[in-house]
Amino acid sequence: MKKLTVLMLLVSTILFGKVRVVTSITDFEDIAKTIGGKRITVTSIARGNQDPHYVEVLPSYMMKVRRADVYLQVGMELDLWSRQIIDGSRNNKLQIVDCSQNINRLEVPTDKIDASMGDIHSKGNPHYWLDPINGIIIAETITNALIEADPDGREYFTSQLLKFTNDVNQLMKKWEVEFKNLVGKKVIFYHNSWPYFSERFGLEVVQFVEPKPGITPTPTHLDKLIRIIQSDNVKVMAMEPYFSNKAPDFLNLKTGVNVVKIAQSVGAISGVDSYIQMFEFNLKALTEALEK
Ligand SMILES: [Zn+2]
Repeated sequence: MKKLTVLMLLVSTILFGKVRVVTSITDFEDIAKTIGGKRITVTSIARGNQDPHYVEVLPSYMMKVRRADVYLQVGMELDLWSRQIIDGSRNNKLQIVDCSQNINRLEVPTDKIDASMGDIHSKGNPHYWLDPINGIIIAETITNALIEADPDGREYFTSQLLKFTNDVNQLMKKWEVEFKNLVGKKVIFYHNSWPYFSERFGLEVVQFVEPKPGITPTPTHLDKLIRIIQSDNVKVMAMEPYFSNKAPDFLNLKTGVNVVKIAQSVGAISGVDSYIQMFEFNLKALTEALEK
């Protein structure tokens, strides 16, 4: 009898002992995988090719979260939908982690916000994972959450964090040399997802295809963009793949500006399968578009 109990305990540790993590976006899924390894299972609610601002809340997502130990949120009002999923899961043991907690936030509004400004986030721009150095901060937050859920894993998680941190720091050094031609280059982005990325790699953000965040381009705004592209000699317009090509193609036709699709998340574009690959891909794609 005693043997059987021990055996059952062993089996249940092997089968169910992993920390179950659910994330809002694939980038956190990938970082959590790196830190947690075989000690965790992890799944993302939003797919990489989906607009992370708008995710339809499905009952199946609530079921996923019901069985989870940890939920990793973007925060800063980007994934408000995750709140609905978490509430609907009725999982009162869930550890809810806001990965923006230690981020140095950009574009925090100083004035009062109103609806006329479009989809502005009152806590600042929430696209902070697009700076690899912020990836290290996110990884630290995830490491602490995993240690809380699985204290026996502390040593493993900590060593994985150290490895990830070293990898990112080394790659940053390589990227700074390899992609130094991006510094000072003017880019028009479709949506304001790239302030952290641009600050890190020295790009100059000139304008957005969206007249206001979350608002589709109007003819007046497109006219304004054509004038800016011509007067400022803007070579590149970069877009998240989930937006319509219509306005970018029109701008290309009118001005010859090179349109390039870049990945705002892991899985946004085929071949972008990891957080680190995402930066490699985007930096290469922007460089190619600038040199075209
Ligand atoms: Zn946004």
